[in-house]
Amino acid sequence: MDDQLRNSYEVVVIGGGAAGLSGALMLARARRSVVVIDAGMPRNAPAAGVHGLLGLDGTAPMQLLARGRAEVRGYGGQVVTGEVDAVSREVGADGAGFAVTLADGRTVRARRILVATGLVDEVPDIPGLRSRWGRDVLHCPYCHGWEVRDRAIGVLATGPLSVHQALLFRQWSTDITYFCHTLPPTDEQAEQLAARGIGMVVGEVASVEIVEDRLAGVRLTDGTVVGREALAVAPYLVARAGFLSRLGLRTVEHPSGVGQHLLADATGRTDVAGVWVAGNVTDPAAQVGAAAAAGAAAAAHLNADLVADETRQAVAAHRASFSAESEARIGELVTGERRHGL
Ligand SMILES: Cc1cc2nc3c(=O)[nH]c(=O)nc-3n(C[C@H](O)[C@H](O)[C@H](O)COP(=O)(O)OP(=O)(O)OC[C@H]3O[C@@H](n4cnc5c(N)ncnc54)[C@H](O)[C@@H]3O)c2cc1C
Repeated sequence: MDDQLRNSYEVVVIGGGAAGLSGALMLARARRSVVVIDAGMPRNAPAAGVHGLLGLDGTAPMQLLARGRAEVRGYGGQVVTGEVDAVSREVGADGAGFAVTLADGRTVRARRILVATGLVDEVPDIPGLRSRWGRDVLHCPYCHGWEVRDRAIGVLATGPLSVHQALLFRQWSTDITYFCHTLPPTDEQAEQLAARGIGMVVGEVASVEIVEDRLAGVRLTDGTVVGREALAVAPYLVARAGFLSRLGLRTVEHPSGVGQHLLADATGRTDVAGVWVAGNVTDPAAQVGAAAAAGAAAAAHLNADLVADETRQAVAAHRASFSAESEARIGELVTGERRHGL
C-alpha cells in the first residue's frame, strides 16, 4: 500500500525506519500534514528480530515498521515509497521552505524537514562476510549477544573499538577469539584480552568458511582455519546524507571514530534552519528504542518551531489590523465624505 504524494506538506520526513515513523506519528497526532518518504531498507533488515525493545522484543524488523506505518496513517499521516535524491531551499507563496526531489522525478514542498535516513554499515571487504551480515556476522552484543551466548565467537579487529567489542562479547561467552588481522592490539590491550581469557590469533584473515548455510570458521591467508560459530566485526558507519549537500549539510567524523554522522543539537536541530535529524543518521549508537525516542523528541521540537512561526505571523497580522494606516482606511470607508463634518 502506498499513499498518493501531494504537492506540499507542513513536514516531509525523509526515511521511514524507527526514527522517521516515530517522528511522523508525533506530527500526525499534532494535526500537522506530514508525509514519510521511505526507500524501505532499514539498517536491521537482515536480522530475524528486534531485540532489547521493551514490550516488542523479538518482533521482526519489517513487522515493526508495518505497525508503525499503520499508526501514522491512523492519524492522517501519509507514507510513500521512494528515494529522496535532493533537498533544496524554496520559499513558495504557501510559505513552504524546501523542495524535496525524489529519484523518480517527483517533487514535493515542505515547510520543515525531518531527516531519519539512518546509516550504511560498511563491512570489511573480506569474502563471505557481507552475505552473513546480521545472521552470524554481527556487530552489537546487545542486539545479538543472547542469541550466540556460550558459542564459539570470533572478533575481527577492524577499528578503534574492536578490543572493546571483544571485552563486551566476553560477557556472553567464555569462548572468544580475537583475530588481530591487520590491527594488532597494543601491549595494554593484549594484557586485557589475556586477563579475560580471550585467545588471540595473529595473521591476516582471508575469508570466512560457510558450511550448510552456517558460519563454520575463519580462514587466515596462510590457510589455517579457526572454527567459529559467530564473528563480530565493527563496520565503518556512514550516515545516509548525500541528498542534503545543496543545503550545505554534510557528514563529519564522529568523535568515537566509528564513522561519519550529521551534527545536531540535543533536540535534533541542525545548523540549517528548518531541518531536523533523528536516529542513526546523527547518533550511530542509537538502537531501535533510542532512534524512535529521538524521532519523537525532534518532531515535538519541530512542531514547537512551527507554532512559534505561526504565532509570530499571527501577531504581525493582529498588529497590522490595528495600525494607524488601517484605522485611517477603515475611517475613510465608514465615514466617506462626511469625514470633515465629524
Ligand atoms: C544487523 C543489525 C541488527 C540489529 N539488531 C538490532 C536489535 O536487535 N535491536 C535494536 O534495538 N537495534 C538493532 N539494530 C540497530 C537498528 O538497526 C538501528 O537502531 C535502527 O535501524 C535505527 O533506526 P533509524 O530509523 O535511524 O534508521 P533505519 O532503521 O536504518 O531507517 C532508515 C530508513 O530510511 C530509508 N532511507 C535511506 N535513505 C533514504 C532516502 N534518500 N530517501 C528515502 N528513504 C531513505 C531507508 O531505506 C530506511 O528505511 C541492528 C542493526 C543491524 C545492522
